Amino acid sequence: MAKKKVIRRSWAEPFKIKVVEPIRMTTREYREKAMKKAGYNTFLLKSEDVYIDLLTDSGTNAMSDYQWAGMMIGDEAYAGSKNFYYLWDNVKKYYGMPYFVPTHQGRAAEHLISKILIKPGDYIPGNMYFTTTKLHQELAGGTFVDVIIDEAHDPANAHPFKGNVDLNKLENLIKKVGAKKIPYVSMAGPVNMAGGQPFSMANLKAVRELTKKHGIKLWFDATRACENAYFIKEREKGYKKKTIAAILKEMCSYFDGLWVSAKKDLMVNIGGFIATRSKKVFEAARNLVVVYEGLHTYGGLAGRDMEAMARGIEEMVLYDNIKARVGQVEYAGRRLTEFGVPFVQPVGGHAIFLDAKAFLPHIPQNEFPAQTLAAEIYIDSGVRSMERGVVSAGRDPKTGDHHYPKLELVRLTLPRRVYTQAHIDVTVESIASVYEERKKIKGLKMVYEPKYLRFFQARFERL
Ligand SMILES: *Cc1c(COP(=O)(O)O)cnc(C)c1O
Repeated sequence: MAKKKVIRRSWAEPFKIKVVEPIRMTTREYREKAMKKAGYNTFLLKSEDVYIDLLTDSGTNAMSDYQWAGMMIGDEAYAGSKNFYYLWDNVKKYYGMPYFVPTHQGRAAEHLISKILIKPGDYIPGNMYFTTTKLHQELAGGTFVDVIIDEAHDPANAHPFKGNVDLNKLENLIKKVGAKKIPYVSMAGPVNMAGGQPFSMANLKAVRELTKKHGIKLWFDATRACENAYFIKEREKGYKKKTIAAILKEMCSYFDGLWVSAKKDLMVNIGGFIATRSKKVFEAARNLVVVYEGLHTYGGLAGRDMEAMARGIEEMVLYDNIKARVGQVEYAGRRLTEFGVPFVQPVGGHAIFLDAKAFLPHIPQNEFPAQTLAAEIYIDSGVRSMERGVVSAGRDPKTGDHHYPKLELVRLTLPRRVYTQAHIDVTVESIASVYEERKKIKGLKMVYEPKYLRFFQARFERL
């Protein structure tokens, strides 16, 4: 009797394509020139010259027909737009915070929150830094302190919750500087700079308890909160049967307030907001937003943008949506493993992070291995990625030397609902080709360095 074949059953995205945008293939020779012209910084490439754009998932998402339809009912009143009230309702409903202030994007929310909560000389502990978050904390006179668990700094460590806060590190800081000097602890999840790694609900609860004991506030960078909720559902005991919406709500319940870049989870092209349970912080934010963003009922956004955000919130908590999103990243990770390419384990929620130190061990960190690798991948195939290493880490304001982060990574970020599995295959095969030729690759020197967030505009030349 013939043996019955076990058929592996695939799953596919919970959407189909209605509108397409052509992309352009170029020659290697063309890309060599384009990369040189862009100072070996993928941020300075023209988007037209990019074949598959994995620079970021920020604002690069495909909106649904439901979101686009919402754009047509934008109420562009200067004050009190109906889209603002709908968005506020959804923020209350899904994040569980009573107060809400829109901003034009995430860093604008960070700007206001940092200004409101931080005094010069304060310390702000966080589970690894994020570029714009840390910068706004510093501009407000604060000092960021990394209290993430050590496992997060080891790209090969497969800990399921590498975004967790190390409670000992946090407690030691409180002992050292005193609770009065810590206006809030800031937690993000999944942690972008650690490779898109989530924190667990158990860890969050423990941080809440510790901060409560010392009278310290706890704020949430909830930009990617749904991805974090997905990992909690998949990996943490007791959450398998809970919905993404319920997990999100529980996460938010432990925080005093949060800020969001809507350009991520909410699947829009622009937007952000602050939400809090503190009436005092709300009033301060509502007042400051008028100075920097616009009236508190639009915060630098059009009515239609707020409608798309409100609808994006409803879609971001759908399980099939988030599963397809993270599933695409996992697929890329499985395929890269076939070629032995070193990348951060386990795969993150939004991106693959190539381990540039392991990929290009012959290039020292002061010759920018991750910057180099991102340039080489572009030249090979027109796939655009970005550096997350020594260039992104910036300089130590006290010594003037580079920060040398342990992680020297190239991030390939998947925009939501934009690329197909074939695009992923093309990308993976290009990286595998560069990996084969890696010994021939030489490092870079920096020839132009801007003062703030230098990775956006720095320029390099080949050594
Ligand atoms: C993108 C992002 C920000 C900044 O938001 P922008 O909308 O780019 O200004 C802050 N925190 C996290 C975790 C992010 O991913």
